[in-house]
Amino acid sequence: MKFPAIFADNGGDKRPIGFLRRYNILPFTAMILILAALSAHNYFSQKNVLLKQLETDNINLVHAFNAALTRFEAIRKAVNIQVLVKNISLGLDIFEFRYLDRHGIIINSMFPEEIGRTFDRPGFLESLQKPDDLGRFYTDNRDMTPVLAISYPIYSDNELEGIIDLAVDISDLNYMQEELRKTAIRHMQRDIRNLLKAIASSITTSLAVYDTLDYHEFLRNFSDTSRNLLQISIVSSNGVIEQSSDDQLVNTVAGIDEEVQFRGEFRDENGRPVYRITAPLLNIDHGGDHEHILLMLVNASEYARNNDALLITAIATTSAGILFAVLIAYSIYRVNVESVKQERDRLEREVEARTEEIKRLSNTDPLTGLYSRRYLEEQMGVEFKRAIRYNHSLSMLLVDLDHFKKINDTLGHLAGDKVLSEVGRRLGKAIRETDFIGRYGGEEFVVILPETRASDALQIAEKMRHLVAERPVFFEGRPIKVTASIGVAELNSGMTNYEEVFEGADKALYLSKEGGRNRTTLFNPPLNKRPA
Ligand code: GH3
Ligand code: MG
Ligand code: MG
Repeated sequence: MKFPAIFADNGGDKRPIGFLRRYNILPFTAMILILAALSAHNYFSQKNVLLKQLETDNINLVHAFNAALTRFEAIRKAVNIQVLVKNISLGLDIFEFRYLDRHGIIINSMFPEEIGRTFDRPGFLESLQKPDDLGRFYTDNRDMTPVLAISYPIYSDNELEGIIDLAVDISDLNYMQEELRKTAIRHMQRDIRNLLKAIASSITTSLAVYDTLDYHEFLRNFSDTSRNLLQISIVSSNGVIEQSSDDQLVNTVAGIDEEVQFRGEFRDENGRPVYRITAPLLNIDHGGDHEHILLMLVNASEYARNNDALLITAIATTSAGILFAVLIAYSIYRVNVESVKQERDRLEREVEARTEEIKRLSNTDPLTGLYSRRYLEEQMGVEFKRAIRYNHSLSMLLVDLDHFKKINDTLGHLAGDKVLSEVGRRLGKAIRETDFIGRYGGEEFVVILPETRASDALQIAEKMRHLVAERPVFFEGRPIKVTASIGVAELNSGMTNYEEVFEGADKALYLSKEGGRNRTTLFNPPLNKRPA
């Protein structure tokens, strides 16, 4: 039996989802979505804060580097040339010293501010066109000081590579006697020429080596003293690393576009999270006039750790929230299911009891407590079919009280009822467990005797007749004499339904009444219908 319960629409679906779909799905889903959205929002905004922090830190680092580089370059220009000039001077009073490339651009100088400029002494650029003019000593007056000067060409593979422009203060010689002065100048020229020859072959490389060493040292120091800075390089506009804190990277290609502004991106460098920064480097004045790019690798494992922690927190918060929501929804569901189940069970039990009661009532004759006519007819049908199918015998008794009308008429209806219930009780004593007895109507009783042949049925009938007749029934202290007539019939092979057995018993009963009552008669079917 089904009840219109909570599950009625989906055919008694007891799965939680069925319930949720019907009842809790909207608030439940909304709750989960809101939780997830809040967690995601929280995660992304905090992650953004982290990222901004990282970016700010590193922009500051780039600024710090730019400032350091500016100072470094100023010092380097000064120190570098001083060292070089001191090394080569060997007692000469050097007034000016500079090294120019073959186009006249000042590569290095005692005067740092002029590095990078084109050398513009009148007549110099013209002399570059005819290199034969180079390499000759001449005297000159510079800033009121008499100097002995030379523009000394340096060749490599017969190609002009650069020019050393040198001027030596000769004011000390002014006070000398003319002859002595000329001799001193000749000596000085010889010394200078020897020195220039000595350094000419190595000036280019020594300057380059100087530069490289200095920059490398500076970058390595900067990287060592900056927390988390893994590597710092200076890249030329063509993408080649010119200088780096890591020696091995020099002259390799960095693979970056020319940057016009600060840019940072995350990378995974051999399993280590790094933040790669590229930024324009405008104030570098190293090896040419093109712009340079700063390339830095910063250790981002702390950022990655914090980011992971944020992510885990977000996932944990969301999961806990969802779990909580599911638990609440599920417990609501359980409570509902439980109460629905209890109510359904209670109703089912009640209906079962009522059905049982109705069945019992409809199967029972209220006056005698024996089976009712309805139940007897049902049972006769069942037993008839069973006997036919298994070829078993089946007998039936029809019991009718004699002159019962008289009892009602003389002693009253209640007396008749008392007789009926007492006779019913006595008849019940004569049957076996497998037999059925009931009141068929009025003062008629039917007894069904499965697997019973006529001879045994006759004996049972006789026993019943005696049980009825041997003692009177007492009503209000008065004895009432009662007898019964009985008709007996046995199923035979010619019969096609139980009514025929019943008719046989009825005919036999009629014969008992005809024969004087208080007797038993066996139905004798016509000869042609009798079993062989
Ligand atoms: P016979 O020997 O020929 O059977 O005579 P009879 O008086 O028994 O005849 P009949 O079968 O015609 O009468 C049956 C009577 O039983 C009629 C009716 O008043 C009475 N009766 C039927 N049902 C009940 C009942 O439930 N209670 C009582 N007290 N009387 C009933
Ligand atoms: Mg009758
Ligand atoms: Mg009767």
